[in-house]
Amino acid sequence: MSVVTIEQRRQAAAEVIQGVSEQHFIAGELVRSSSGTPLTDLDPARRVSIGRVAAGSAKDVAIAVKAAEEAFASWSRLTPRERGSYLSQCAARLRESVALLADLLTLETGKAIRTESRIEAQSIADVFAFYAGLGSELKGQTVPFSDSMLVFTLREPVGVVGAIIPWNVPIGLMAHKIAPALLAGNTVVVKPSEEASLVVVSVAVLLGSILPRGVLNVVCGKGEEAGAALVAHERVRKITFTGSTATGRVISAVAGARLVPVTMELGGKSPMIICADADIDAAVDGIVTGMRFTRQGQSCSAASRVFVDQRVFAQVRELLLAKLATLVIGDPLAEATDIGSIISELQYDKVASYVDEARKMPGVEVVTVGAAPTEPPFCDGWFAVPTIVFGADNKCRLAQEEIFGPVCLVLPFTDYRDALSMANGSEFGLAAYIWTNDLSRALDFSRNVAAGFVQVNQNIVFQPGTPYGGFRQSGLGREACLEAVLEHYTRQKTVLIRAKSV
Ligand code: NDP
Repeated sequence: MSVVTIEQRRQAAAEVIQGVSEQHFIAGELVRSSSGTPLTDLDPARRVSIGRVAAGSAKDVAIAVKAAEEAFASWSRLTPRERGSYLSQCAARLRESVALLADLLTLETGKAIRTESRIEAQSIADVFAFYAGLGSELKGQTVPFSDSMLVFTLREPVGVVGAIIPWNVPIGLMAHKIAPALLAGNTVVVKPSEEASLVVVSVAVLLGSILPRGVLNVVCGKGEEAGAALVAHERVRKITFTGSTATGRVISAVAGARLVPVTMELGGKSPMIICADADIDAAVDGIVTGMRFTRQGQSCSAASRVFVDQRVFAQVRELLLAKLATLVIGDPLAEATDIGSIISELQYDKVASYVDEARKMPGVEVVTVGAAPTEPPFCDGWFAVPTIVFGADNKCRLAQEEIFGPVCLVLPFTDYRDALSMANGSEFGLAAYIWTNDLSRALDFSRNVAAGFVQVNQNIVFQPGTPYGGFRQSGLGREACLEAVLEHYTRQKTVLIRAKSV
């Protein structure tokens, strides 16, 4: 039996990436941009070029939208059961491809293979399988009216959906948008982040071997160009976006002017409360996983503000630093690695600037744990180490802005009500966590915290069918559930039929 080395896998992944380099995926084919200089795509863990991302323009977007519109005519007329069958085949194809997709994801994003990429690659097959079975839920209602009148509602697809996704969970979020949209009978044009486009095109090629041409299209390029053109395109009937709150506002304004519905999954600054009665060991594991240290903190739902009961603060601090010290930072493709690299220089510098700011704040202690690789080729990568900030105020910039890096603020509290008030003291409202064995407190927190996704004594178990989305500046609408299909990817039609009296 031949043993495949990490370097052979890196090489194989690089060849697949090269194969989709400079290409969009439109009407079932890889196609080059009509114009523009392709963007360099780096492996952020080694800072070497692995390919180039096509710089899509409004013209490329228009070609993709036209392909999607043409495909809509027949795709929307299939029965939901037939579309579900396509999605089942997609799920099977994705399941066969987990190992390769995980390697591609790691190569392009720097995420660690064991703790992140393989899990994301496995999850997308589950997302397709989940939606594949929901076709019969595309049902309307009957309305009591009169004996001679039958009144009912129908759920219809909206048309071409524009799906814009970020770089932190590129194929996971792609799946959460396209699977429900396709099941409902829509066709889709995806605009991936320029930092994580080639793995998305690779997934589209896989799915394109099953789906009819034009049903799924991917146009790469810059947000302000390709993304903006997609949002503005007159034949795009729905926008679904995951990304920063700032970009979400820009897109919502354009879509609002066009009266096109939007789904917005935006940023977060999620609070976690650790009560004195909690299982402290499990709660500290909860900080490590909730803060997504293994994703370099690049998570919208990262528990980046942790409020700890003063009575257990010293214990939590000691355990947290000890657990973080066991995490291995290094080659993202190595099984032993827990933490890979930050996505880009821009993001690395942004994270570093917040840490510098924390170091200058009076009364604030900044503790870093672990070290970035020092040997080539990874000494050149953008590795940031887990950073805990003690003593900051909940109102300071670090506690209010999304850092999107491995920087966690840990603050003490003496009264649960104060902790809850600090938890809610944010413009965001995506996720919230509490660790307690007091059922009354858990219920009180669940009811009173301003967040769309609340977790008690857990933060890693998630499965499709569990509605996900934010309050306040964290978003509009819900994904990962039946509501996503019905409320976000269909429009409702009411039909009134009068019969002759007999
Ligand atoms: P951005 O908002 O910068 O970008 C997201 C996407 O929007 C990218 O594809 C980007 O393209 C594109 N874009 C940028 N400007 C425009 C524009 N004017 N019109 C149309 N599209 C545009 O987010 P990031 O990629 O940096 O991702 C990180 C953010 O995503 C964080 O704030 C995070 O919280 C959020 N997020 C939210 C999740 C949720 O479920 N709530 C889940 C995951 C992430 P390009 O990259 O080419 O500029």
